[in-house]
Amino acid sequence: MPEPIDEAYLSELRLEVPGLRVIDKADDGFSKLIDRALKIVTFGGQRHFMTRYVTTIGRTIYLPAGWSGRSPESRYITLRHEAVHLRQFRRYGLVGTALIYLVPILPMGLAWGRARLEWEAYAETLRATAEIHGLEAARDPELHRYVRAQFTGPAYGWMWPFDRAVQGWIDEALSEFGLEPGGSPH
Ligand SMILES: [Zn+2]
Repeated sequence: MPEPIDEAYLSELRLEVPGLRVIDKADDGFSKLIDRALKIVTFGGQRHFMTRYVTTIGRTIYLPAGWSGRSPESRYITLRHEAVHLRQFRRYGLVGTALIYLVPILPMGLAWGRARLEWEAYAETLRATAEIHGLEAARDPELHRYVRAQFTGPAYGWMWPFDRAVQGWIDEALSEFGLEPGGSPH
């Protein structure tokens, strides 16, 4: 039986990132601490940290409660996003990445640094979605709504609350992989 796509990709990542750790948030005290802090600073807006969101810090990927119930394809697409964060931590270092993530322009509401780091990763989410499910799937308005909400809503502390700007980034990414936002592949 061939190896599921997410497990094969994780094996590749382990070669790319020596010392990579993949752990469950439920078993991790640090994750529980972050969860409590996020609930406070977002006024309960981000309350799905333990159950829905995968998080990467340094060389560790922290998995939420629902991970094992997702399809291998869904897990693969998410791992492609997290791989971007693993590379960012290698590029900027732990402290450098944390500073970019938390400081400019504000920690919340106008978190330009975080928005740029997350955009690089969400562009990869779109690219992996197109590769796995086809270009139409990457153009799905529901997916775009979800991605925009990550930037404009409480999940990441309202990091870039400008809906049209984020849709502009999405459209630009789609056109980079040969897909007009509202048209047909060319
Ligand atoms: Zn991310």
